[in-house]
Amino acid sequence: MPSPHEKIMRRGGSWMWCVKTVKWFPVLFIVSVIVWSYYAYVIQLCFFTIKSNVQKVIYLALYHMFLVFFLWSYSQTIFTQIGRVPVQFRLPSSELDRLMQAESDEAKIQVVKRFAQNLPISNRTASGAVRFCEVCQHVKPDRAHHCSVCGDCVLKMDHHCPWVNNCVSFSNYKFFALFLGYALAYCLFIALTTLQFFIKFWKNELDGMNHFHILLLFFVSIMFALSLVSLFGYHLYLVAHNRTTLESFRPPVFQIGPDKNGFSLGKFNNFQEVFGDNKKLWLLPIYSSLGDGVVFPVRAQHQSNLYNSMGSTHNSLGDGVTFPQRCIDEDTDTLLGGCQRWEDPETGGCQRWADSDGSGPAFGDHADSDSSPPEIVIMN
Ligand SMILES: [Zn+2]
Ligand SMILES: [Zn+2]
Repeated sequence: MPSPHEKIMRRGGSWMWCVKTVKWFPVLFIVSVIVWSYYAYVIQLCFFTIKSNVQKVIYLALYHMFLVFFLWSYSQTIFTQIGRVPVQFRLPSSELDRLMQAESDEAKIQVVKRFAQNLPISNRTASGAVRFCEVCQHVKPDRAHHCSVCGDCVLKMDHHCPWVNNCVSFSNYKFFALFLGYALAYCLFIALTTLQFFIKFWKNELDGMNHFHILLLFFVSIMFALSLVSLFGYHLYLVAHNRTTLESFRPPVFQIGPDKNGFSLGKFNNFQEVFGDNKKLWLLPIYSSLGDGVVFPVRAQHQSNLYNSMGSTHNSLGDGVTFPQRCIDEDTDTLLGGCQRWEDPETGGCQRWADSDGSGPAFGDHADSDSSPPEIVIMN
């Protein structure tokens, strides 16, 4: 089914295509800088300036290694589709009619609340109501937000990034974090290897040739490295605390109130939620995040209801009914492997979470979080 944004795009015609093209300009700018840096480093520095063949080979090999990982993670961030809200969250026409006919805001809130009673949601609005997107006409899953640029609700939305012309969200957050890391490594490598030529230039020891490109390359790489180091550091902090950029500014609200650490399961578990439980994939821009972007494990005090089965947007681990809980301080890591965290007690393995037809395991009572032992508990 086309999203509301896609419907508008179809109606908007050439103007919308013009806007769509303009949105690619920041990406084109970044690509142009990369293409120029390739010319300046490979041709001007390695072929025309460096005399030693051994040095040439080492510099070229390392440069291309950083470049490949940088471009790979960048393209994955750009071209990975945003995670969309499953159809089970959309209000059916009968409920929409009821919503339209509701005479007061309170009556509307009650219509949405009644519809959402079996949905796997913990987050609420600041006033305690179920979060509902009037544009997309569906209940918002936890951590999902409506992006006005994409024109759609986005699962675990971090922010909309013009430099990748995409929402940074559940589906590409790992790629984005790697992109920042590899871009920083690329810039630092260039800055460190051009530094000696920069010093030689000021000492008038660099003969012949026009060294404009090499000097500019040094300055540009330093400039990008400085901005990337703060951004990369900030996102490492967010990963460690299981927060999105949006949540760091406005903590998610649960039934008992706002809690900036509501999704935090301890630093290593938080890292695994984004980077996965397979160490070999951590540094590769290959999808390995845990979960499905719709339901997230929450700290024990926020587990007020157990969940019905919903459609998923990704292959995911867990069954959507049982989630690990923890009652200890997030800084005290009690670690479980991602697969173990989501282990199905019957099959002993990791499961795809949900049935798309909405039929799934029934849900029942859950234990009082206050009586849980001080460790991660798999609820049965
Ligand atoms: Zn929306
Ligand atoms: Zn967006």
